[in-house]
Amino acid sequence: MNLCEQCIKEGGGCCNNTESAIFVTLHDALRIKKATGLEFDEFLAFDKIPDAWFKELKKAQDAFLNMFVDNKILQLKLTDKGCPFLGPKGCLIFKHRPGLCRLFPFNYKIIKGKVVLSFEKLEDCTIVEKHADPERALKEMGENVEEFKKFCKRYDKELDMYLEYVPLISKGVPLERIIKKFKIKV
Ligand code: SF4
Ligand code: SF4
Repeated sequence: MNLCEQCIKEGGGCCNNTESAIFVTLHDALRIKKATGLEFDEFLAFDKIPDAWFKELKKAQDAFLNMFVDNKILQLKLTDKGCPFLGPKGCLIFKHRPGLCRLFPFNYKIIKGKVVLSFEKLEDCTIVEKHADPERALKEMGENVEEFKKFCKRYDKELDMYLEYVPLISKGVPLERIIKKFKIKV
């Protein structure tokens, strides 16, 4: 079991935070729909994030702000316990979880075609607390570093595509139509 799974099982971490938002791309949404059989409107919302968090992003001029239209992003519909896919024994969709969940607590930059990993600045994260080197942390978590880097590249393309279609989501264009238009496959 990797540290995130352990952290989730112990009730900690990012998954039970009700003051946050779990950003998803349409690739994530389609994958979750296929894995769970749920309809998009049962687990997705195009909505604002908590004011305090949005203010923090604005203050830091965070690059993530690009993902918003009218202060809204595509995200999982949270319950009063946090993520709707957080079960008593951890993430119910671990293999199909959103890219952002897979990425956390790591971050990346692509420099001259190469993925350079770093850590997010997170408090109370077991992985960040225990490790100084992201690649070593990944190895200890049982992740294949090269596979993870490939995932980062794929995710980066998904984010670029999100920027192209998010104006359509904000106008209320049905998600199925956007998926077809952008030939999104998982
Ligand atoms: S990223 Fe850190 S805080 Fe979040 S679930 Fe994993 S170990 Fe826990
Ligand atoms: S999808 Fe899974 S990993 Fe992501 S926040 Fe929900 S429970 Fe946690």
